[in-house]
Amino acid sequence: MAPPVQPSPEPQALADLVRRHRFAEPVPVTSPTMPSREAYQRSLARLWETRWLTNDGEFHQQLRASLSGYLGVEHLSLCSNGTLALLLALQAFRITSGEVITTPFTFPATVHALYWNRVRPVFCDIDEKTFNLDPRRVEALIGPETRALMPVHVFGHPCDVEALQAIADKHGLAVIYDAAHAMGVRYGERSILEYGDCSILSFHATKLFSTIEGGAIVTRSRAQRVRIDYLKNFGIEDEETVIGPGINGKLNEFQAAFGLLQLEMLDDEIRNRQRLAGIYRRRLREVPGVLVREDVPGVRHNYAYFPILVDPHRFGMTRDDLYGRLLDFNVRSRKYFYPLCSHYACYAALPSAHRDNLPVAERIAERVLCLPLYGTLEDAAVEQICEILAALQGAPPAAALPGRP
Ligand SMILES: *Cc1c(COP(=O)(O)O)cnc(C)c1O
Repeated sequence: MAPPVQPSPEPQALADLVRRHRFAEPVPVTSPTMPSREAYQRSLARLWETRWLTNDGEFHQQLRASLSGYLGVEHLSLCSNGTLALLLALQAFRITSGEVITTPFTFPATVHALYWNRVRPVFCDIDEKTFNLDPRRVEALIGPETRALMPVHVFGHPCDVEALQAIADKHGLAVIYDAAHAMGVRYGERSILEYGDCSILSFHATKLFSTIEGGAIVTRSRAQRVRIDYLKNFGIEDEETVIGPGINGKLNEFQAAFGLLQLEMLDDEIRNRQRLAGIYRRRLREVPGVLVREDVPGVRHNYAYFPILVDPHRFGMTRDDLYGRLLDFNVRSRKYFYPLCSHYACYAALPSAHRDNLPVAERIAERVLCLPLYGTLEDAAVEQICEILAALQGAPPAAALPGRP
């Protein structure tokens, strides 16, 4: 490893730094927006009146309509979580055998959904800049068993949707987007959810927009949406007809009511995050060895996450050391997405999981760190985190800090 570019702060100087800049309370990587308790209590009062708790009740219908309007999409089905949305999407498109090309740089649910549908995941390397499936690497992985592509808009950053669609069209493959991070993202004039055959969203409490647990599937046609609506309700058509082997994937009224109130807060939440991301970028651009990502022209970003890349040679410390160091300051960053899905014991034996096939993903997984970002985080807290990073640059490894166990 190259020597640090700055002289290392003395252990004593580091201890002083911790004393000065340590947060009194832990700063989590994210924190959910909460509607006012009074407003939610009004929704609850209505539920005690109607006693309609789940199964396409009025809050569910309103949320479906409001979300479709907000996103500018026509065909949307709500689900009990993002993972079930993935499972249902694969079932709806009858992708229940063969292979699907996907990314190892994602949350486990993406790949597990394939496995649960008896599909073999084929890992494809990612793009250096977007951290998304690299279209230039996809075609070499297509074989006689390939059924679909399952790209992920990681951290809400749009995939190269045109290039992926061109490949899918050429080879007759479906494209199912895991858009769990891409709530509210627009690409040009359209919602990013309108690309591919369908897109799934997650409304988990840790996501930008939440129904506590929840998710949705956006499809291209009414027929597909209706099919998904049957599939998520046991395949029941009417009291005496079950048209197929469905599952229970419904979103209940308490969650839908919560989501309706949260949706009203979403634009403010995105604006606050955008301002905070601006502070991070301005300050961290000055720190050698920290790479921040910039906005892409023509994209309405959602600032769902704030990932940085830590270059251990220029920063003078590995990502793992920085992660540990930040804990000393009560800053709880997260190593999304480390380890890669291709490293999980259940997938490591797949030929495509070999690290030589995934050099970019391997490197990014070693260097990525998501910093705290949520609307109620204060500007001063972001400034403070940036000051900590700037001061740590060139510092000795975590173990050298006095008083560290
Ligand atoms: C959160 C997430 C999911 C799963 O969503 P749940 O609603 O938690 O089931 C799927 N894919 C990605 C990329 C995610 O981040």
